[in-house]
Amino acid sequence: MTLNKNQYEVVIIGGGIVGCAASYFLAKQGVRSLILERDTVAGHSSGFALGGLNPLGGFGIPGPLSEFSLKSFDLHTNIHSELFENTGVDTEYDSHLHITLAISDKESVAIKDKLKWQQNVSKFNVEWKSKEDILAIEPRISPNIIGGSIIQNVATVDPYKTTLAFLMGAEKLGSQIKYTEVISVTLEKEGYYRIKTKSDNLIAEKVVFAMGPWTQFAKEWTGINIPVEPLRGQILKMNIEGPPLTYVSWGSNYIVTKSDDLIWLGTTEERVGFNEKTTNEARKSMLDSVLSIFPYLLDAQVVGHTACLRPLSLDGLPILGTTEKSENLIISTGGGRKGILYGPLMGKLTSELVTGSNIDMDISMLSPDRVFEYSRESDNDPFRF
Ligand SMILES: Cc1cc2nc3c(=O)[nH]c(=O)nc-3n(C[C@H](O)[C@H](O)[C@H](O)COP(=O)(O)OP(=O)(O)OC[C@H]3O[C@@H](n4cnc5c(N)ncnc54)[C@H](O)[C@@H]3O)c2cc1C
Repeated sequence: MTLNKNQYEVVIIGGGIVGCAASYFLAKQGVRSLILERDTVAGHSSGFALGGLNPLGGFGIPGPLSEFSLKSFDLHTNIHSELFENTGVDTEYDSHLHITLAISDKESVAIKDKLKWQQNVSKFNVEWKSKEDILAIEPRISPNIIGGSIIQNVATVDPYKTTLAFLMGAEKLGSQIKYTEVISVTLEKEGYYRIKTKSDNLIAEKVVFAMGPWTQFAKEWTGINIPVEPLRGQILKMNIEGPPLTYVSWGSNYIVTKSDDLIWLGTTEERVGFNEKTTNEARKSMLDSVLSIFPYLLDAQVVGHTACLRPLSLDGLPILGTTEKSENLIISTGGGRKGILYGPLMGKLTSELVTGSNIDMDISMLSPDRVFEYSRESDNDPFRF
């Protein structure tokens, strides 16, 4: 197809971390794309997440996502300096010691069960520690714990800056972003796609759907079932004198001091549809939980409270690939609780699907054509974060 005005080789719907990373890796392969974003870049969970990068825990790890998770971590580790050189944006990649606390015997068993696999991944030096060992590392933790595991060299990034860096890197190589809402995508007789937006009509050879939890609505346009739902999470930001806190998690909560010198406390898991509002109930439950682990935070001042929506698929695995319906429609969503960790790799694999380049890992378990079954494990995994 000869490209005229309003005609594009690839249109990416969604300017979150997945869409922006896809655009960056496409541009590196010489393919200029157009991102269509209805709000602002990283205006939803890609800009408000914690940005914790722990590849050794979470749903499907160890399991179907082990390799995917480790490769995702390696990509973050390798790309932050490249992004800084290309764009001047510092993604604030920062290494941390990660402590997973066991508060109950059940959690202690669950943590120990995963240790053997984690210890085989050499660079993270994972160990079980007694209560006394943990309190020696971080004396501000309450003695009401059983023990826990420590993982060295996990990391955090600033998710907003990471997404922005991918976008700016793509733009430097000639790709574009346009701020408008996509209303429909239809296949024309000639084999190309007509994308109707609130501001105009565009033509594209290939379309990437990277709309986070809103990707489910692409079914109305394409007929492709994309079982992804919003899972709301809230974060409190706190201020208190004292040395920074390393990355600590317990149950479904976590805490870490980030590069803004604030303590970030998360989180909730709420199935409340597309409601991105903060709530007093969540604030209270997070504060109750953190005070049981870090009593010294009673004097902390809460200076921020945010909420955003994770894209969680029905079976807990990302949804990434083309479908039987068309090789020119690529679905890339469902990063769930680990979408910042997985986002760059999802973007890279998406770019390889678009260009038909060799993909050096098996991603068949992520296919949008797979049989989806609701996974209870994705709700109950003690290593969710
Ligand atoms: C509280 C919280 C904490 C988190 N912490 C972590 C963490 O520590 N580590 C981690 O790895 N992950 C974390 N996550 C998960 C992570 O934030 C998400 O999985 C990830 O950001 C999803 O990125 P995305 O690009 O798929 O979607 P999004 O960021 O949701 O981007 C999708 C974009 O598509 C746009 N869009 C939708 N429909 C249209 C349309 N019709 N037209 C145009 N644009 C459209 C939206 O406006 C949006 O900007 C956290 C999430 C939450 C909620």
